[in-house]
Amino acid sequence: MKLTILGCHSATPGINSNPTAQILEIKNHMFLIDCGEGTQVQLRRNKVKFSRIKHIFISHLHGDHYFGLIGLVNTFSLLTRETELHIYAPKGLKEVILLQMKLSSSWTKYPLIFHELDANESELIYEDDKVEVHTIPLKHRIYTNGFLFKEKKNDRKIDINLVTEANIDKAYFRKLKQGFDVENEDGVLISNEKVTKDPLPTKSYAFCSDTIYNEDIIPIIKDCTVLYHESTFLDKNESLCIPTKHSTAKQAATIAKKANVETLILGHYSTRYNGYDDFKTEAKTVFENTLLSKDGKTFNFD
Ligand SMILES: [Zn+2]
Repeated sequence: MKLTILGCHSATPGINSNPTAQILEIKNHMFLIDCGEGTQVQLRRNKVKFSRIKHIFISHLHGDHYFGLIGLVNTFSLLTRETELHIYAPKGLKEVILLQMKLSSSWTKYPLIFHELDANESELIYEDDKVEVHTIPLKHRIYTNGFLFKEKKNDRKIDINLVTEANIDKAYFRKLKQGFDVENEDGVLISNEKVTKDPLPTKSYAFCSDTIYNEDIIPIIKDCTVLYHESTFLDKNESLCIPTKHSTAKQAATIAKKANVETLILGHYSTRYNGYDDFKTEAKTVFENTLLSKDGKTFNFD
């Protein structure tokens, strides 16, 4: 699992500060999460292959989380894309994008499929044989979801020396990976544990931006491998969290601790601050394994 931060700042884009957008690579997928202004440029700068993006997840319709979308949708057309593009976003985004395209007399040459979200409970919005994606209902000034990306149970690992020794035909490897006992070439039943090892533990990534401190999300993100939780403000500006419905670094760390996650990544910094080390220092007083997001930074979780 690999996470690339394309932008991790709030509000307006700056020369060196991009609004929210991330690429999550998980089980051969390349999921784009949020698409703030400038995302296309950041994708190019970080050498992300446009054609590998097939699913885009938009948390909410504040501009710093989706103003880059129409540009990207249009560029995909110019690049003669033919494969489907799925967009998961709050109800209303389809109307916005289609109106922008209608007024410019443009259309996509590829299937553009919207999955409009309006539920207030966590729901499964994407699933295949390797991963599943659930919404994380957040509390913000407008309707907002975070997203939980979860690997499904991994296959058991075959020990190639042991299966050869046990005289098992290759045709049974699939069954072995699934945990079944199989018969060898001599018709003897071989128990699965003798020739396979336990699967690698599964990984999960929870993206939570934007939100006020909200313990309701804890059961959804419990024990996840990595939590990205917005930390727009420092504790000294906590009073700003109520009217803006954002969180402090300390609050993000409290959620991480209570949810027993392995790693916390902070981001969505307010432009009022010059440096971000204080965010880390503050969060670490509550939750030690805290990292800072930075535009262009890649995190590997292997
Ligand atoms: Zn917002």
